Amino acid sequence: MHTIISVKDKQFKPFISEASILKAVQNVANKINAEMSAKNPVFLVVLNGSFMFASDLLKNIAFPCQISFIKVASYHGTSSSGAVTELIGLTEDLTNKNIVIIEDIVDTGVTLEKLYNVLMKKNVAEIKVATALLKPKSYNKKYPIDFVGIEIENEFVIGYGLDYDGYGRNLKELYIIV
Ligand code: 5GP
Repeated sequence: MHTIISVKDKQFKPFISEASILKAVQNVANKINAEMSAKNPVFLVVLNGSFMFASDLLKNIAFPCQISFIKVASYHGTSSSGAVTELIGLTEDLTNKNIVIIEDIVDTGVTLEKLYNVLMKKNVAEIKVATALLKPKSYNKKYPIDFVGIEIENEFVIGYGLDYDGYGRNLKELYIIV
């Protein structure tokens, strides 16, 4: 049965079920467990959208790890130096650390690129990326996306942490616009 839901001024229909999402997340966890367990990584959860993915994923990580929650903020300084990117919430020293960025969705990769640029300046050892969703036809940056839950077309989705104008993050399935 297809239940149409209204979120603000738009209608959305079910896209990917909770069971499919959780299966994909378990696969991501299995890969991270296999590849990263000896690396003592720091997981950087990029808020807000990735809170639900991070919760499901990290429950299935089977080795001791550090977890930190950050926000990416961009602002224009007073000079002509262009946009400045800042990480809000990062308190750990990341020097020589193996980082796993946890993203909700990678679309064009602009956000990821900003994150990369800031983290590279902190002398980290390596950066890996885990994302619940990837839009491969939209992504045009050079950074490898190491752990991908589900690849989707260039459609606007909500649910599982992702919002439309602040709403829809709590939905446990993914929805797309009707
Ligand atoms: P990017 O910088 O990779 O183009 O986009 C990343 C950000 O755009 C995501 O973290 C998310 O906030 C937003 N975004 C991209 N695609 C979608 C989508 O389909 N649905 C929602 N709700 N947000 C999206």
